[in-house]
Amino acid sequence: MQNIDQQISSGKCPPKLTDSFGRQIKYLRISVTDRCNLRCTYCMPSEGITTIPHNKILRFEEIERLIDIFTSFGIEKVRFTGGEPFVRKGFVGLLDKVSRNENLKSVNITTNGVLLTKHAAQLEKLNIENINLSLDSLDEYNFEKITRKNNLKDVLDSLDWLLKSNIKTKINCVVQADIYKEQIKNLSELTINNDVEVRFIEQMPFNGSGANNVFTSKDTLAYIKNIYSEVQEIQTKRNTAVNYKIKGAKGTIGLISSYERSFCDSCNRLRITSIGMMKNCLYDNGVLDLRELLRSEKSDDEIRALIINSVGKKLKDGHEAEKYLNKFDSMSSIGG
Ligand code: SAM
Ligand code: SF4
Repeated sequence: MQNIDQQISSGKCPPKLTDSFGRQIKYLRISVTDRCNLRCTYCMPSEGITTIPHNKILRFEEIERLIDIFTSFGIEKVRFTGGEPFVRKGFVGLLDKVSRNENLKSVNITTNGVLLTKHAAQLEKLNIENINLSLDSLDEYNFEKITRKNNLKDVLDSLDWLLKSNIKTKINCVVQADIYKEQIKNLSELTINNDVEVRFIEQMPFNGSGANNVFTSKDTLAYIKNIYSEVQEIQTKRNTAVNYKIKGAKGTIGLISSYERSFCDSCNRLRITSIGMMKNCLYDNGVLDLRELLRSEKSDDEIRALIINSVGKKLKDGHEAEKYLNKFDSMSSIGG
């Protein structure tokens, strides 16, 4: 019998990773750490978060092996996230290697930006397609209220650098019911003179407690239209955000209904947490312990076969997955 590599090269095994609803997986999100230098209220409690021991976190060589396994299924896009990816020592070295992987078309990062400018010189030399910068408020008081730290200036310096660099930039803002007016007004205004996409995200209950006071995308859009008389929807290829433009603006506004989950029918992603748990959906409990497999005697082929099997079990949408969810962990341990 041919192994999977031979089957793939002889065309006998579909080289694609497809779930039972026909959705092809093309995009892998990898969390490199559960640790973070901020303490965003919507993501984790102020205290009591237990950090995962280093030996349980995937080693960089294990992450590289996984990327090789997943690219053999045709996955071309990877996003590194966390916790805060830049707090992990050696992360830029991993980026350096992965961005030279010829099987990948696109390497991306989601970061809170606190440490970004420290690595600017190295990052500029790498082939990074996009950085999503989390920036919830331009107001010092509100920034500190959300993140429980006073690093707004560091994040704004990172934004300045990003806007001058060749790296495509999106800003992520999780809309808070108590300060939505300031968030939406100030961040939408950024799109007028900057070629940037500002994305307003519905808060999900992944904060360790499960409590959630969601400010919906529908209400965000209504507030934007209340401020700007001319706001047009723009047609983009289907993705998680529905995009809008204020008339005459250089940039765009994206609305992500992550709580409503209106985009699940076109979901093309898989997640790997920092401990190597594969998740078909943010709302599932984890479907395959990749770390255990990587640290066993299993061959790449055997791991591939188990991945195919687990992807086949991907549920229709996040509402279905939530029915079986044991606990709303902190997003820092899942990798948002
Ligand atoms: N620390 C990095 C950062 O903040 O960009 C990367 C990890 S963070 C978990 C990834 C993304 O998840 C961020 O854009 C963050 O705003 C988002 N996020 C965290 N908790 C969330 C929640 N409860 N609901 C919606 N988005 C959340
Ligand atoms: Fe840290 Fe990102 Fe979570 Fe904020 S959202 S606490 S920056 S992991």
